Amino acid sequence: MKTQKKLEQHFSCEFFPPKTEKGMENLFKTAKTLKDEINPAFFSVTFGAGGSTRETTFNAVTKIQKSTLCNVAPHLSCIGSSKQQLTEILDDYKQQGITRIVTLRGDMPSGTVSQSDFNYANELVSFIRENYNNQFHLEVAAYPETHPQADNAIQDIQHFKNKVLAGADSAITQYFYNIDSYFYFVDNCEKASLDLPVVPGIMPITNYSNLARFSDMCGAEIPRWLRRKLESYADDTNAIKDFGADFVSSMCEKLLDMGAPGLHFYSMNQSEATLRIWNNLKP
Ligand code: FAD
Repeated sequence: MKTQKKLEQHFSCEFFPPKTEKGMENLFKTAKTLKDEINPAFFSVTFGAGGSTRETTFNAVTKIQKSTLCNVAPHLSCIGSSKQQLTEILDDYKQQGITRIVTLRGDMPSGTVSQSDFNYANELVSFIRENYNNQFHLEVAAYPETHPQADNAIQDIQHFKNKVLAGADSAITQYFYNIDSYFYFVDNCEKASLDLPVVPGIMPITNYSNLARFSDMCGAEIPRWLRRKLESYADDTNAIKDFGADFVSSMCEKLLDMGAPGLHFYSMNQSEATLRIWNNLKP
């Protein structure tokens, strides 16, 4: 593959906060390897809705920032949290020199009742802009295949627009395996006069059953032909990884060649699958 990675393209990698010391050690190694190989614009660390990972996210963010000297963007979701709690978290990040936040609504686990001061991500974006001016670059989530709870695709774009008008600087998409959905979404943004980078979220393929379960939950479609192909490998994990690396690399190549402003890798605290894709894209 011959895709030329351009300097102005932004690459980033996402992690989740580990629960154990061993998990944290593994994450350090992963972050260091990805920093050396990719030198991403930033790493990001997810946040459990309702503050369930408040401490572990904060610890992972500050430790990765110190150990890699790379920018780290914490995710922050508003569902299940009060203004007071969100302010405390934002103040802590401000003090740590954090300059970018992935600003979300989040999802409470089903059956959980939560008290929230905000119901949607655009309200959190407005709140941060009102109270922290331009201290933070604000990323928001975008859904090329439409968010699973949206009434319809047109309203979903309108809700996305509300986040941009509230002050979002750029967006990262839910993962997808159908690049038309991404370019159609970007076209719709242009038609709605939304001028911000929308970076495709890239989920490497390493395990079919986990991917299928997760995709059903978050509304990311695995096209029928891809599903059938992955099913045919059954338990042959090496074959799935080989095919997945080729397929996702080729998708990334097309995205970049057709003008995507960068790639955000859902690295899942592992470097191998992300690096296989990255190395395939090397000029
Ligand atoms: P919103 O933009 O608020 O949209 C949520 C839904 O509400 C959409 O269907 C939208 O159309 C609808 N909506 C918006 N405004 C209104 C309105 N005024 N009236 C009616 N409907 C409305 N989850 C986590 O818990 N932690 C994470 O760290 C995390 N990181 C993520 C990172 C990325 C890049 C992405 C793409 C998703 C991430 N998620 C995370 C998942 C995300 O929290 C869920 O998809 C969640 O359901 C929606 O969050 P949002 O910020 O997109 O919400």
